[in-house]
Amino acid sequence: MSSRATYNVPYDSSERDRRKKAFIRKRKRKRLIVILSMFAVALGLLILIICLTVGLIKKLINDHNEKVTYVDYTGEYKEIWLVDNSHARQGDEGAFYVIEEKVEDENTETVKVNPKAQKYKDIIPGSKGLVIVDAGHGGYDGGAEANGVLEKDLNLEISYKLKDELILRGYTVYLTRPNDEFVGLNARASLANSQDDPVCLISIHQNSLDESEGSASGLEAWTYKREGCVELGDAVAEAVSKKTGAKNRGTRTRTNLVVTSKTTMPAIIFECGYVTDAEEAAKLADDDYQELIVEGIVDGIDAFAGYDR
Ligand SMILES: [Zn+2]
Repeated sequence: MSSRATYNVPYDSSERDRRKKAFIRKRKRKRLIVILSMFAVALGLLILIICLTVGLIKKLINDHNEKVTYVDYTGEYKEIWLVDNSHARQGDEGAFYVIEEKVEDENTETVKVNPKAQKYKDIIPGSKGLVIVDAGHGGYDGGAEANGVLEKDLNLEISYKLKDELILRGYTVYLTRPNDEFVGLNARASLANSQDDPVCLISIHQNSLDESEGSASGLEAWTYKREGCVELGDAVAEAVSKKTGAKNRGTRTRTNLVVTSKTTMPAIIFECGYVTDAEEAAKLADDDYQELIVEGIVDGIDAFAGYDR
């Protein structure tokens, strides 16, 4: 009976109102939370869309808005669109870059630039004249071979790096041997002599000694006694020795070296080091050491040609 008594308690209308109001408040709060959540999601989406659009526009500008020029190994200027300008020089359209990597598809040619381009951004491209780079040996003529390195390969690697360094520093470049092929000595001389008013010719070689001759290391220049040649040899040998720390064995002259005696511009054969010396051979094959060699060679050419750097 007691429970029924509870059941039969007279109905309290204020309690019913209170519950109803509480229910309505709760429902309103729920609606508000739903609306706010939807608004937050919409705002998030809007921000995401804006970011994506800005990013896309930026990428399009970076990818396609900058036209640059580079010089290929034959000295020909070419215009291309720059893709990765993270290292690019800020400047005018048509600014100059040395390519590090080239990507081609059917419509466009795109490049990544050499980070060093920034360092020499004030030098006017091609303003210092033409340098002929002659990579010694090639094809079936391997040159010296010792301590796991083959001269013709080192000569080509160093010549490519020298080409890039020269272009960065305001020269144009002609390569007498642009790949692993045999080019005769007389052909090299006449290819060089057919170029228009070159500053000089640098023939890249590596030295070697027969076992019976003992051991040696260090760099040297070989040339022919005519105007500018010994001066060029001295300037380059000194600058490379300063960069690399290698012993400077000086400039020597000989009459029977075709590339220096049959050419008409200042010309040297530059022996970067001895492949028969195990320690020096390892250095000569090292990318960073090769960079030091070519920086030194261009320092020497700059000094010879009267550019202070
Ligand atoms: Zn050689």
